[in-house]
Amino acid sequence: MKTRGYAALTPKAPLAPYEFERRELRSGDVAIEILYAGICHSDIHQAREEWGAAKFPMVPGHEIAGRVSAIGSSVTKFAVGDLIGVGVYVDSCRKCDACKSGLGQYCAEGMTGTYNAIERDGTTVTMGGYSNNFVVDQDYAVTIPDSLDLAATAPLMCAGITLYSPLKHWNVGPGSKVGIIGLGGLGHMGVKYAVAMGAEVTVFSHSPNKESDAKAMGAHNFVATNIENFNAPYSNHFDLILNTVAAEIDINQYLSMLSLDSTLVFIGLSGKPYPIQAGALLGQRRSISGSMIGGTAELQEMLEFSAKHNIVSEIEVINPDYINTAYERAIASDVKYRFVIDAAKF
Ligand code: NAP
Ligand code: ZN
Ligand code: ZN
Repeated sequence: MKTRGYAALTPKAPLAPYEFERRELRSGDVAIEILYAGICHSDIHQAREEWGAAKFPMVPGHEIAGRVSAIGSSVTKFAVGDLIGVGVYVDSCRKCDACKSGLGQYCAEGMTGTYNAIERDGTTVTMGGYSNNFVVDQDYAVTIPDSLDLAATAPLMCAGITLYSPLKHWNVGPGSKVGIIGLGGLGHMGVKYAVAMGAEVTVFSHSPNKESDAKAMGAHNFVATNIENFNAPYSNHFDLILNTVAAEIDINQYLSMLSLDSTLVFIGLSGKPYPIQAGALLGQRRSISGSMIGGTAELQEMLEFSAKHNIVSEIEVINPDYINTAYERAIASDVKYRFVIDAAKF
């Protein structure tokens, strides 16, 4: 299938128009006319090889929203015309314990990423959503509720699920005290979901000018982290802290704010190691963990939750020729709060 998109041809090269072929439909596949594709900071990390060797040419994009344009002979889950989304992975082994429990993102053999990965045929490089069409196995796509604004729903496919999943896993509910570090694409979705789940939400941000936005999204407290001892008023306070920052920060300052037996979860992935002080953990038997996106069933659950609570991303819709500028603005924390590409313009 002929496809037009944008690709990085080499690490650090600006993205440029690129044409390529997608596979023809297998019996269980659906073809998607992509309408919107979000820009995740993970796209930037990978297009610039900040996580190690990557595959080029690379068509990034794992926040895909569109319309089904064709279906394979055995497809039952979708019909032509359905609104549909694809997130961060497009396949997994389907037989390990993780896959069997709906956690394909933690597949023992490794999930197959939506781009910058090799399909399970062992040869085909996956190409992502910065393009006008997509082909995916029906088991790795979800239905987008009609009531949600489609452009503003695209970012839910990664940014949304990545915050929804740990909030659910760590049982956030009424009365929980949740801290979210970084008010970017991921962080702002975390604020919205945690507020909807009934938590008291505190945003930690190195951009003081984001306070009014954080409050408008429902955050109860906003802490500017460029002030010395910003953590002192919140000593032993939080049940859960989610770190969504795309750069290195001093994580020990945040550990001191966890209450007894509570957890700080790494979500942002700068690609560099973090120095941790053991003393910051053992004083209150604190834990550190990590969380990666969410499984396909949870992705569907998150969309239903979003429709029920009317939650979508705050977005800036852009044309493809703005992608490189959008990358620079995201790195400068200057995005309110997700760039979404109008895929009709590819
Ligand atoms: P983003 O939109 O660029 O937001 C990141 C936020 O981090 C910024 O808005 C900024 O918030 C804060 N920040 C950036 N640089 C900082 C610095 N030098 N010091 C302190 N704070 C800084 O990025 P994103 O798309 O939300 O992604 C965030 C991270 O999560 C990336 O590393 C991405 O690869 C990773 N990620 C992980 C998963 C997963 O499954 N675990 C999924 C998707 C993405 P303030 O201005 O409020 O400080
Ligand atoms: Zn992502
Ligand atoms: Zn598996």
